[in-house]
Formats: sequence, C-alpha cells, structure tokens
Amino acid sequence: MSKLAVIAIGGNALVTDKNHKTVDDQFHAASIAMNYVADIIEMGWDVVITHGNGPQVGYILRRSELALHELHPVPMDYAGADTQGAIGYMFQKALGNEFIKRDLERHVVTIVTQVRVNRTDPAFSNPTKPIGSFMTREVAEARATEHNWTVHEDSGRGWRRVVPSPMPVELIEMHTIHTLSQLGFVVITCGGGGIPVVEQKEGHLRGVEAVIDKDFSSGLLAHNLDADLFVISTDVKKVAINFGKPYQKWVDTIRLSEARQLYAEGHFATGSMAPKVWAMIKFIEAGGKRGLITDPQNLSRALRCETGTHFIPD
Ligand code: ADP
Ligand code: MG
Repeated sequence: MSKLAVIAIGGNALVTDKNHKTVDDQFHAASIAMNYVADIIEMGWDVVITHGNGPQVGYILRRSELALHELHPVPMDYAGADTQGAIGYMFQKALGNEFIKRDLERHVVTIVTQVRVNRTDPAFSNPTKPIGSFMTREVAEARATEHNWTVHEDSGRGWRRVVPSPMPVELIEMHTIHTLSQLGFVVITCGGGGIPVVEQKEGHLRGVEAVIDKDFSSGLLAHNLDADLFVISTDVKKVAINFGKPYQKWVDTIRLSEARQLYAEGHFATGSMAPKVWAMIKFIEAGGKRGLITDPQNLSRALRCETGTHFIPD
C-alpha cells in the first residue's frame, strides 16, 4: 500500500511577484509546482492537493467592482468556486502533462469543495481578513452602507473590506474525496480553504461572505483522510524561531509540546506562519504522525528528511 500525503500549496506558488500575475504566468508557476508534486508521486506516494487562492479571488472581486456599472456583483462563495475551478484546471493540466512526460498511468480530478463553518463562530462578529481593492475612506464608507460591508483602515495604505475568517468544521465533499483518493485518483480539493457554507433548516447549505484559512481546512482534511503525512508547501524552506531577527534560527524537527510552546511565545507571524504551525499542532494532536513545512523545490529532499521543518508527536 502506498502512503498518502496531503499537500497544501500556498497561493504565492502561483503568483510569485507583482510582475508575474497573468494567467500565462500562473500556469507557468503551476507547471513548476506540479513538476515537484509529480516527483513525489513518482516516488510512490498517493497525493491529495489543496491550494490557496488569495491573489486570484482578489482579482475576481476587483474585476467585479470595476464592472459594477454594467454587471451584477460576484458574491464571495461564487468567486471561491471560480478559483477552485480555474486553479484546479491549471493543476490538472500541468500534472496531466507531467504524467504523459513520465509515462505514469495516473488521473487527476478537481472537486469543488464546500466547508461548513459555525454561524456562531466568533469570527462573524469580528471580521479580520482584508479582501479586494484599497479604497479611499469615502468610497469605503459608501460601499459599507450600500453592501453591508465591514471596512477597516489597512496599516496606513488605505481602506479595505474585511471579512470573517471562521474555523472549518466539516468538509461537505469528504466522502467523495476519500472515495476518489482510495480509487487512486490524484484529488485536488479545498481550494482557497474551501467555500464557506452554513447549515440552515433541514441541513440545507448556504454560502457565506467569508474566507477559511487553507492551512486549517488542509489540516482537517489530512486528519479525516488519516494521511501519513501533512505537508504545507510555502515560500520558505524551513520554519524559523526568532524569525527576521539577527539571532534567527531555522528549525529541523519540532515535537508537539515544543511546537505549542513556540507558538505561545509568538515566533510565528499572524496570517502567515502562525496558521501553518497551528494546523500542524492540531494534526499531530489528533493522532497525525508527521507534518512538514517546506518550499516546493525542496519537497522531495524534505520527504527524505534532508531538509524542511518536521513536526512529530512527543
Ligand atoms: P502561503 O501563501 O504559502 O500561505 P504565507 O505568506 O501566508 O504563504 O506564509 C509564508 C511566510 O511566512 C513566509 O514567506 C515568511 O515570510 C513568513 N513567516 C512568518 N513567521 C515565520 C517563521 N517563524 N518562520 C518562517 N517563515 C515565517
Ligand atoms: Mg497564507
């Protein structure tokens, strides 16, 4: 039996810098990332892939704003679904091409994934995640009134809409993901952290204006799949303590209790490394055996324990 790895690919893997944002640029970046994933599949791993969508969902919302004089606005759940489809397509195409090149008989499928969140999640009364374009105060306040948005000043750079970032509770398509993965498909799921939905009367679901952190949904997914390995692939090779300080130190292995302690000491920045380490802590706490944070180009070496930061139980 092959071992199963859940691999979460950061949004920055597709939009590497502000001069490389076009769809062609993103496909090029997707091809590079999928080349590394194909290496792992060739090593004999079964793989389930998740990904971020921050920049892409931002572009869709911006287009929607610019076109408001002519077209209806795009709700966030719908924009999230758009990005799952588009990024899933890029990954499917890139991986498929790798399989042809390597003569591997594997198939890839993308699943539009809804993730249930609690209406009572405290995030709904304290929206914190900035989304969409920067605006002047006047525009921000007008939009807030018109669309019932919450808007905040963003560290002196202008005003932005903020939305809630609730915790994922249940992956609605879990049965499908599990079944297809067991059948040998490479599954792409939980794009952008999944489309946040809440449960209404009789179990009916309704999409909400929020975003779920892809690191948290990916951890939940890895747990539900009982994955042998949960990988978060981002733009740093390892996790550091005292990050950005002169005495910064890269870490090779972190045991669960140590991870909790370093987390509490504030070594990991909110909104970037903190959710990743938190997701690792939750995965190992729930019985996961091994977690890994590294960058795409070091994935294979990290799987051979030559680099990366590894999270293990106590
Ligand atoms: P992704 O798109 O992959 O989710 P993020 O930008 O959210 O990427 O998170 C990765 C970033 O976290 C790194 O580029 C790094 O600048 C930052 N970071 C914050 N704290 C740390 C830390 N302690 N060790 C390593 N990187 C850190
Ligand atoms: Mg991130």
